[in-house]
Amino acid sequence: MPSSKTRIAIIGGGVAGLVVARHMSTKPEEYSLTLFEQSDKIGGTWVYTDDTDYDKNGLPVHSSMYKNLRTNLPKEIMQIPDFPFQDQDGPSFVHHSVIRQYLLDYAQHFNLYPHIKINTVVKNVEPETSPGGQTIWMITYQHVPSKIETTKTFDVVILCNGHYTVGNIPKIHGSDTFNGDCIHSHQYRTPEKYTGKKVCILGASWSGIDIALEVAKYAEKVYLSHNLPEKLDAKTLGVIEQTPGIDFINGNNFTFRDGTTAHVDSFIYCTGYQFTYPFLSKKIKLRTEENHVEPIYKQLIYTDIKNLFFMGLPGIVVPFPMFHIQAQYILRILDGRVKLPSPEEMRLDFMREKKMLMDQGIPERHIIKMKDRQWAYYDEIAAAANIPSFPPVIKKIYDYTNHVRELNFGTYKNFQYRIIDKENFTVNYCKPC
Ligand SMILES: Cc1cc2nc3c(=O)[nH]c(=O)nc-3n(C[C@H](O)[C@H](O)[C@H](O)COP(=O)(O)OP(=O)(O)OC[C@H]3O[C@@H](n4cnc5c(N)ncnc54)[C@H](O)[C@@H]3O)c2cc1C
Repeated sequence: MPSSKTRIAIIGGGVAGLVVARHMSTKPEEYSLTLFEQSDKIGGTWVYTDDTDYDKNGLPVHSSMYKNLRTNLPKEIMQIPDFPFQDQDGPSFVHHSVIRQYLLDYAQHFNLYPHIKINTVVKNVEPETSPGGQTIWMITYQHVPSKIETTKTFDVVILCNGHYTVGNIPKIHGSDTFNGDCIHSHQYRTPEKYTGKKVCILGASWSGIDIALEVAKYAEKVYLSHNLPEKLDAKTLGVIEQTPGIDFINGNNFTFRDGTTAHVDSFIYCTGYQFTYPFLSKKIKLRTEENHVEPIYKQLIYTDIKNLFFMGLPGIVVPFPMFHIQAQYILRILDGRVKLPSPEEMRLDFMREKKMLMDQGIPERHIIKMKDRQWAYYDEIAAAANIPSFPPVIKKIYDYTNHVRELNFGTYKNFQYRIIDKENFTVNYCKPC
């Protein structure tokens, strides 16, 4: 007997997948859920491992956490609105293990485990047309330890497979002649191995600066090479020397774009990640080049098929709370309370927005970075779903954090934030013990 319930497949057991499962599981009479997680643990990128390449089952290591990582957002604005951190005291910028525990508590609290299939990797997602003319999905998944494969039909697919695993490696002339050790930030775990070395870190986004500050405590020299239009405030970078981007590499000699050179022992690419959906049918015409995915409506819906969703695409956002709103928006689409336009209109909407951003001079590879645009986006989809958006205090803390971070990269994580009410917060500087 075919099920009368809508069969929902969630691919990935990181924050995004868990938040989607939490909301879909509120309607057990209407939805049957399966959350596929390839590893033996939920939590996604927050599951730290010393491994850097493959896990014990031979799957590529998913997590990009490094051992000492503390969050780059205060927990007061990272927390999911309906599940505050139990410990509202203490530091705002917490160790990654605190976040991982928070996610385990979230799954327990909302009773998500019955929906989760761990050790189960999705290998193929294939659209088919049902007798009623709807797109349905044949999902082939493998139980990783036994290698047994199964194919089942689903009505809705929600992709939550993350996009901080496959490193983006820019082409640099002569990089193949470099004979020192070389990794992407995905593989970075600890700074001690750089003791006494001359290290070049390429890329000065959040991870690049964070890793440079760690490595500088041990290395003889750290070059932070980047193409930002202006140099970062050197006072707050300590001994780290900023250089322009790399022009070419010859053995251990790096030549930067201003013609200066440096001898380098170790090289770390902090050059971002790629969006990859290796399991998705070739019938789904996606473009994933230039650091974004298209064509996607409202950062969530594949424009051509209304029951294929992409969670977590926008960057420079407050991801956990954003997932909370995105998941409820999807729920309202599924139950018909949010009506989507036609595929043509959704595609036009996507193209219009992309053009508008590029006309403002934003390069294609940066259009995914929402920054100040994020707040209007949350308000828009929250209003469409008829749910509350975030109180103003969240944006206020976010902006304040950015401001303090720009003033001093080395100390911004020592500030503690406390939310007083929807509008107000307090902030204190706490000396690290
Ligand atoms: C180094 C680093 C630091 C960060 N710091 C912060 C921070 O301080 N604050 C913040 O808010 N955000 C931070 N982020 C962003 C972070 O990625 C998001 O907050 C969030 O964890 C993304 O969740 P996700 O569920 O989309 O993806 P992930 O956490 O990546 O989870 C994806 C899951 O999908 C599974 N999966 C993938 N493919 C398959 C498949 N084929 N079959 C089955 N399962 C599959 C993976 O195993 C994984 O469990 C950081 C990211 C990185 C990389």
